[in-house]
Amino acid sequence: MVHNFNSGPSVLPQQVLQQASEAIINFNNIGLSILEIGHRTNWFIDVMEEARNSVKELMQLTDEYEVLFLHGGATTQFMQIPMNLLDTHETAAYCDNGIWGNKAIKEAQLFGNVNVIASSKDKNHTYINQNITVPESSKYLHITTNNTVEGTQWHSFPQTNVPIVADMSSDIFSRQLNFNQFSLIYAGAQKNMGAAGVNLLVIKKSLLGTIKRPISPIMDYQKHIDANSLLNTPPVFAVYVAMLTLRWIKQEGGLTVMEKRAEEKANLLYSTIDSLPLFECYVEKESRSKMNAVFFIKDEALQNEFLNECKANNMVGVKGYRTVGGIRVSMYNALAMESVKAFCDLAKDFNNRKG
Ligand SMILES: *Cc1c(COP(=O)(O)O)cnc(C)c1O
Repeated sequence: MVHNFNSGPSVLPQQVLQQASEAIINFNNIGLSILEIGHRTNWFIDVMEEARNSVKELMQLTDEYEVLFLHGGATTQFMQIPMNLLDTHETAAYCDNGIWGNKAIKEAQLFGNVNVIASSKDKNHTYINQNITVPESSKYLHITTNNTVEGTQWHSFPQTNVPIVADMSSDIFSRQLNFNQFSLIYAGAQKNMGAAGVNLLVIKKSLLGTIKRPISPIMDYQKHIDANSLLNTPPVFAVYVAMLTLRWIKQEGGLTVMEKRAEEKANLLYSTIDSLPLFECYVEKESRSKMNAVFFIKDEALQNEFLNECKANNMVGVKGYRTVGGIRVSMYNALAMESVKAFCDLAKDFNNRKG
């Protein structure tokens, strides 16, 4: 068994992989592949509608929201969000808690004014700012709910009348939240929801139509809503895999079950790391991510030795992000507890031999 700790694209449920591979040969027993049917056939429209409805159901969204599956990664949304929501003279508030949020800031600056209202840069992004004040005049507030690279996660959200825009790429569907507190939620699919190439976008309709800038139709959220998320050919296979993953989440018991499993895995991982003198996690306890744990072995030679032992024990994806270094263990929904146990056993054993 390979223990897949990849940060993204990452581990998917075995059942989803099986069903997706069958659909490539023979989709729903129609004698054709999912890859060779039109996106405007009822066959595919049913896939798209099930995916959109599953999101509404899992997130318990009111009718004020629309769910779209759009082309591109989350990076496309760094641009498309301000293009649709922020006029040239307007100001949006952004939180700077890591690499992805920073990229979002740079893109938004191309469209309007950006006010960075909180930053964790002073401590290498090892915490999430608490009790932030959001200026009432902000068009929206942008946060990254889980910082995939730095290993931090928002565990409570700002109380504000300003619409909250949240990049949930790496913790989407991993916990039960009041999703109606957000006005826009987006996530690239390849971390917790499926295959690369598609973005989930959840948007409160009242956010739209508030700017003067002309928007190219393919970038225009309203146009995608009007077309029921079929404005042009969507990434059909990626949407299909997302639909299967959403079906799997529902079968398993929904977001409360995902949250419980994530907590159990993260508790075991962090308590093990904290108990071993050789390992150091610099992320503040209240801000630790239940999806991506980032930590270090101070001695670099030892750290490389440990990473090699991981490889030898069939554990993939544990090397930290290239600019951060260290070790990163990603524990997405489909990762079995068994894999976290295997990792912790190896870490303990390594600590006993080398510590
Ligand atoms: C991976 C990631 C992105 C970038 O996603 P792409 O699909 O590669 O564009 C953005 N935000 C977060 C939080 C991520 O984890």
